[in-house]
Amino acid sequence: MSTKTYAAFNEVDALAPHTIKRRQLSPKDIFIDIEYCGVCHSDIHTAKGDWGKPNYPVVPGHEIIGRIKEVGSEVTNFKVGDLVGVGCMVESCQDCHPCEEGLEQYCENGFTGTYNSKNSKHGGVTYGGYSENIVVEEKFVLRVPENIDVKAAAPLLCAGITTWSPLRHWNVKPGDKVGVIGLGGLGHMGVKFAKAMGAHVVMITTSESKGADAKKLGADEVLISKDNAQMEAHKNSFDFLLNTIPVKHDANPYLNLLKLDKTMCIVGAIEPIEAVNGGLLVMKRKNLAGSLIGGIKETQEMLDFCGEHNIVSDVEVIDIQTINTAYERMMKSDVKYRFVIDIKSLKEA
Ligand code: NAP
Ligand code: ZN
Repeated sequence: MSTKTYAAFNEVDALAPHTIKRRQLSPKDIFIDIEYCGVCHSDIHTAKGDWGKPNYPVVPGHEIIGRIKEVGSEVTNFKVGDLVGVGCMVESCQDCHPCEEGLEQYCENGFTGTYNSKNSKHGGVTYGGYSENIVVEEKFVLRVPENIDVKAAAPLLCAGITTWSPLRHWNVKPGDKVGVIGLGGLGHMGVKFAKAMGAHVVMITTSESKGADAKKLGADEVLISKDNAQMEAHKNSFDFLLNTIPVKHDANPYLNLLKLDKTMCIVGAIEPIEAVNGGLLVMKRKNLAGSLIGGIKETQEMLDFCGEHNIVSDVEVIDIQTINTAYERMMKSDVKYRFVIDIKSLKEA
């Protein structure tokens, strides 16, 4: 089937319309008619080749929400018409230790990403959600609660789970002082979830202008990271730090903020970060860690939690024709707080 998409063709040119073919349905496949797709900073990193040369043309998008249009003969958990989501993964080996634990993102044989991944099972390269539709195996399809705002729920599939998973893994609990570093797509979900888990939340930002918004999102305090006096005042006081900065940076001023034994988890910078001062870790037994999205089971738990507590993203809905402007704005930290593409603009083009 011929499907309209937007794709990046090389590192420098703007994304442009592109037609692809989706595969015929296998017995376990689900055909999803896409309604909305969020714009993650990872889309930009991939399209621009920040993480190495991708498989051009790249059709980004891994915050996908839509309705099921067709199901394969062996699909048991979903039916035509269901509201569903697809996040960053579409396949994994299902056989290794992490897969058996429901941690497919750490699959020892490498999971298949929703876009720009070689598809070992079905062939070809995967194409993401800047697209009219997608075909995904049932195992990697998430159920989206019907009561939440569909367009604002799309970012939960990546920004949501990527912040939910570490907050849960490091057991954030009522009364903990939690810092969320970087107020973008991930950061704003981190603030909402940490607040919902009962933490005292501090938004740690480079942008003074985002302070008032951070409080509206649920932050109890705002800490401007460029202000040394403020950073000094919060020294050795945090129970957990969630670091969403998308590029390499000096992590030492943030490590300085942690209490004895506590952890800073990096989710943004997947490149060599600047030299970490071992003394900061040694002297107070601090931990520097990382975390990758989240498993399918915990993604479903997060979506169910969002349905119960009415938690969604703050989004700016765009037509796909303005995607390149959205990328430029995100690279200047100018986004409140997630762009979401209305896929109707692609279907009607
Ligand atoms: P985003 O919406 O662009 O937000 C990033 C925020 O970080 C900016 O708004 C800015 O916030 C802050 N920032 C940017 N440059 C900075 C710098 N040089 N120093 C300090 N702060 C800086 O990005 P996003 O979509 O949230 O994604 C964040 C990162 O996570 C990206 O690298 C993305 O690829 C990655 N990611 C990782 C996973 C995972 O599984 N680990 C999943 C999804 C995304 P302030 O203005 O508040 O300072
Ligand atoms: Zn993402």
